[in-house]
Amino acid sequence: MKILVINAGSSSLKYQLFDLDTEKAIAKGVCERIGIDGHLKHTPLVEGKPVFNEDINLPTHAEAIAAVIEKLTSKEYGVVTSMSEIGAVGHRVVHGGEAFKGSVLIDSDVMATLEECIPLAPLHNPANIAGIKACASVMGDVPQVAVFDTSFHQTMPPKAFMYALPYKFYEELKIRRYGFHGTSHRYVSRRVPQILGIPGEDLKIISCHMGNGSSICAISGGKSVDTSMGFTPLVGLPMGTRCGDLDNGVLQYIMHKNGYNIDEMINILNKQSGVLGVSGVSSDFRDLEEAANKGDERSALALEMFFYSVAKVVGSYVAAMNGVDVIAFTAGIGENSDTTRAGICEYLTYLGCHLDVEANKVRGKEAIISTPDSKVKIMVVPTNEELVIAKDTMEIVKGRK
Ligand code: ADP
Repeated sequence: MKILVINAGSSSLKYQLFDLDTEKAIAKGVCERIGIDGHLKHTPLVEGKPVFNEDINLPTHAEAIAAVIEKLTSKEYGVVTSMSEIGAVGHRVVHGGEAFKGSVLIDSDVMATLEECIPLAPLHNPANIAGIKACASVMGDVPQVAVFDTSFHQTMPPKAFMYALPYKFYEELKIRRYGFHGTSHRYVSRRVPQILGIPGEDLKIISCHMGNGSSICAISGGKSVDTSMGFTPLVGLPMGTRCGDLDNGVLQYIMHKNGYNIDEMINILNKQSGVLGVSGVSSDFRDLEEAANKGDERSALALEMFFYSVAKVVGSYVAAMNGVDVIAFTAGIGENSDTTRAGICEYLTYLGCHLDVEANKVRGKEAIISTPDSKVKIMVVPTNEELVIAKDTMEIVKGRK
């Protein structure tokens, strides 16, 4: 079965077409500047087909989907002969609130609930909904499935997801920890047991998703029991440009001193903070490593703050699960930066974590990077959120039959 995976943003739309007989993507691409002017980069992943990379007019998400389908089925750039070969569409949806504990087949009731979740993710959910509506208008009755960033974390117990605020804010406004990157943490939670040949029910895993946005998840018996992002993706670790955990009193102080309103303040916390804010150099760990190697002290400080923060969260999740068997690193930084992995693991020797310096040189590949005598296995597990979305979509669509 062939499944189209869509990740729709406000002005962009990323896609991959999967052949689930082989579990491989056969084409991928991105529409950019939707509603502004428009650009499509389409990359067939089969032999002998050229890449399409041109400006084209994309006034709305529907035109973007139409352009994607046209390329996927075209003689020159295509990988399927007609749209009827696409069995279903899987959508990444950022926020499912408490309504969605897993992936769902989209119908009018689901759409109504997705609309209700917009206030929880006002920047992301409207774009995800636009992507779903665009597919419905271009692809007709092809089944569509929503896969949520939040749903994996719906197994967290109340003691982990509640904030110590007046209880009415939870009851009336649904203020609680939701967590994000759930599709990635779920991938890690399934892949680690497969690699080790140990049932997931028997493992305590700490999954460290470290990319532009970073979050850590405590996974016990295959279920998320705690995670570092919260009501929004702004908290937990310091990230590329997001501040991570912060004393709320700081907001009031800066806003009074500098005359910012709340939107200006939150924008600073989202876009000008994190390792970019501390270093003043970059949000990209490659730039920070280079600058730190040349003696830039603030870049070195930003990196050390990140290592230290990861180590503190890992320690708290060892406490939360009363132990840990595996620490897994994933996403852009986790998969590629050996110095970041080493910097974090230096804090974890008290757990009996011992990194194998040679094995840690790996980039972008599955590997066990701890020494054989390490009490905790340290692993690199490249994430594949799109494959999780494609597989969920196929299972749900097949289950319907
Ligand atoms: P996103 O959260 O946008 O999906 P990614 O998971 O792709 O992000 O991670 C992107 C980040 O990964 C970059 O900003 C960069 O900091 C980091 N990164 C990628 N490659 C390397 C590398 N070789 N060394 C260090 N950091 C890297």
